[in-house]
Amino acid sequence: MNRVIPIAVDSPAAHPSAGNDSVPHSAAQSLPHYMRAGTLQLAALPPLSLYVHLPWCLKKCPYCDFNSHEWRTGGAIPERAYLAALRADLDAALPLIWEDLGKAGMVSGHAYGKSIRTVKTCVGAEHCRFGTQLSMTMGVKLEKMLFGMWAPHKVKLAVSGCPRNCAEAGIKDVGVIGLDSGYELYVAGNGGIKTDVAQFFCKVETDDEVMEYSGAFLQLYREEGYYLERTVHYVNRVGLDYVKTRVVEDASNRKALFERLLYALQGYEDPWLERVRDDRKRREFRLIPVEALA
Ligand code: SF4
Repeated sequence: MNRVIPIAVDSPAAHPSAGNDSVPHSAAQSLPHYMRAGTLQLAALPPLSLYVHLPWCLKKCPYCDFNSHEWRTGGAIPERAYLAALRADLDAALPLIWEDLGKAGMVSGHAYGKSIRTVKTCVGAEHCRFGTQLSMTMGVKLEKMLFGMWAPHKVKLAVSGCPRNCAEAGIKDVGVIGLDSGYELYVAGNGGIKTDVAQFFCKVETDDEVMEYSGAFLQLYREEGYYLERTVHYVNRVGLDYVKTRVVEDASNRKALFERLLYALQGYEDPWLERVRDDRKRREFRLIPVEALA
């Protein structure tokens, strides 16, 4: 049932100075009607709901103003049963959550896979007075181009807007450093347990060249690297000169590698949305009654 709640009435009676030019209007009176204190009107009561939360507090803190109650039945708190029910709820709801996220344009990332990771950038010429190149823009371009790329191992990239190199491009699988005249590319770095400094690969002038050379290098690694072999170990095995011969010095081979990369990436589908659209895959998230397993 819709009901108007008359919290306050905005009338000359409520503001005795209104209509009287001899009395200066207050700042509050010059505000739009809906911003004045005491004028809020709700068209309807919000729906009644009950929020039940099971915190894991050892005791109630004196400043806690939740309407909370201690477990006093004497038995142990049914943590296991609660967690099992919560997990079942989440499992069942996951595809629905993914569907909502997908509609909002939010897709699954690659936090753990043998795949491209979020491209790190400094703030670049977009925001830094030292910047010579738009590193954030370049990083976004690279990440969008490589999104969904699987590889023998994880692949990390960074783009710095100038040689001060705040994005630490010198310890990435592909590092891009902006210069006045274009970009320097570095490959086969690693910032993990054992740090390996990336090796200078080549100099290029344009954003498109950054994408082509980086993409061709990564495709060569995808085609020739062993499973679980990082770029540093791949390049150490085959030699940097060999990689340069295939990518930097052989323009037609570079373009072919780059085209194969782009072709492979066309088939990428977000794993969340795959499970939303494909009923057979969605079944992975249906609960199986325990009796059915007996
Ligand atoms: S690398 Fe250069 S452009 Fe980027 S934040 Fe550092 S000083 Fe600025």
